Amino acid sequence: MSAVNKITEIFRNFVPEYLERFGSSIPSEHRKAITAILTCRTDGHGLLYYECEKCGEMHVAFRSCGNRHCPACQNHKTRQWMVRQMKRQLPGHHFMVTFTVPSELWDVIRKNQKKCYAIMFAASSQAMGELIAKGRHVKGDASGFFGVLHTWGRQI
Ligand SMILES: [Zn+2]
Repeated sequence: MSAVNKITEIFRNFVPEYLERFGSSIPSEHRKAITAILTCRTDGHGLLYYECEKCGEMHVAFRSCGNRHCPACQNHKTRQWMVRQMKRQLPGHHFMVTFTVPSELWDVIRKNQKKCYAIMFAASSQAMGELIAKGRHVKGDASGFFGVLHTWGRQI
């Protein structure tokens, strides 16, 4: 089973419980993403008819959802992003620093995403700047960093 199919299966198995547990506190954007992922490449998004250049036959396929959070639709874009980031990589040492948020704040963040994400990026950027300035943990002639919001944990 592919990773995309696994994620869709996880959604099918746990979305009802998730919706029941968090109900009205789920942002509408999350509901849209959940619906898109669950219905991606099903008849929920219609059918696509195309003529194959090799065999000349007409084929029918389910349309994808196009939601930016859908792993099926965005897998190729994620890979393209990775390739672009790798090309931007400067010669030298690199490492990843992960900033996490205590679970007690998850609900507050869920309800105030725009403000909270801005605060998280500002705080993590400030912390990285201070570490670099002190030179105790990060050394080098030219240190730099960029931030990526990662809302799914390793266990999804
Ligand atoms: Zn999709």
